[in-house]
Amino acid sequence: MLRIIIVFALIVAIAMAAVWLSEYPGDVRLNWGGYVVETSIVVVGAMTLVFAVLVALAYRFWIWLKHGPGRIGAIFSARRRDKGLEAISNGMVAIAAGDADEARRQAIAAEKHLSGEPMTLLLAAQAAELNEDNRAASIYYDRMMARQDTEFLGLRGLINRAIKEGDLEKARDLARRADELRPGTSWVVKELYELALKLRDWEAAEQALTRMARGKAAKGDAVRRARAVITYEQALAAVRNQRDADALSLAEQAHDLDPTFVPAAVLAVKLTADQGSSRKLHKLIGETWKHAPHRDLAEAIRKTVSGEQPADWLRRAKETVAPHNPDHVETHLMLAKAALASRDWGPAREHLMKAGGDHPSASILRMLAELEEKANADAFAAREWIVKSAVAPQDPLWICNACGRQEENWHAHCPACDSFDSFTWRTADRGPHNPDLIEAEIVREISAGS
Ligand SMILES: [Zn+2]
Repeated sequence: MLRIIIVFALIVAIAMAAVWLSEYPGDVRLNWGGYVVETSIVVVGAMTLVFAVLVALAYRFWIWLKHGPGRIGAIFSARRRDKGLEAISNGMVAIAAGDADEARRQAIAAEKHLSGEPMTLLLAAQAAELNEDNRAASIYYDRMMARQDTEFLGLRGLINRAIKEGDLEKARDLARRADELRPGTSWVVKELYELALKLRDWEAAEQALTRMARGKAAKGDAVRRARAVITYEQALAAVRNQRDADALSLAEQAHDLDPTFVPAAVLAVKLTADQGSSRKLHKLIGETWKHAPHRDLAEAIRKTVSGEQPADWLRRAKETVAPHNPDHVETHLMLAKAALASRDWGPAREHLMKAGGDHPSASILRMLAELEEKANADAFAAREWIVKSAVAPQDPLWICNACGRQEENWHAHCPACDSFDSFTWRTADRGPHNPDLIEAEIVREISAGS
């Protein structure tokens, strides 16, 4: 509005000046270097005006030229940025969809338009991973490591690469660096824990576990169980290094952490028999049998008295062990075996029947065959039990929950798949051959259909 008024006032002023000049006509005479120019004052006024306008326009043009290239550059760089962002976005979609070729194409486009940006590097590394180009992936992760804003991300990529390549020591060094960079990040602590387990570095595993338990990464019974296993492995290491007192103390700790953990109970009983008092051993045997009755524990308890006669072991098992868990299958099995060894046929048969229940396992049937042969010299009855044992349910074993590997002895790491603490004492699934399972499946199908 103000501008219009000013322009209007200017036009009025020029018009008034023109009228005034025409009312008072005059001449201008210019004499310069032999040239003489004569004209009216109105023409001089008009020319001055035209000259002023030309100067103003020239000044504007000069300003435009001065700032022009920057402005043009800005337009171009914005366009490049848009193209780069579009390539990154398309590339991420391709990665999520598992389209390796498209991911690589978009990574190249992003590199062309937005070279060196964090997202460009990440896309390039991920595309290289998808294309299984390990070398290129490592190069991009290295470049990410060199930048402060992507160092952590680059470390994560390199840690995963090192693990995939089986270089656990390198992975651990990188994880430690990541831990220094951002202390306590939960995936880093978890990685440190898992790497320590894989490297059988029990002290480091314990430290990482403690840190995990403080955060939200792991809690409760699982932590106690993991700590029990780790402490048990430390006890075994102490046994190997002949640090007997440490070994006993660690075995007791492991047993206290998880009283149902059979290997710790077995080791605690063995070491207490070697080093501890008999009162302590007596108490420990009762306590372990209550929480972790098992074939291996029965054997360890039997061996706490060396040179014991079968009949003495049977009496001891019946009087000092069995009462702590009288109805358990393992209690009946322990007593049956002890009775068989001491040729006490009546109790042997009774406990075998109780241990077997409606579906006696193969080993129980074999023991019944042995009983018939030794007690009654009844070869025919013995053969019948043997025939039955061929189709009987399998005996429990330590079975890996991750890969199904079956082992006679418990291991902290599965020898086949290296899973940690994956063994449980159970019978292997017999699949469709097990009539109970087929029946259960049929019932489930019928009830689902109705
Ligand atoms: Zn396994």
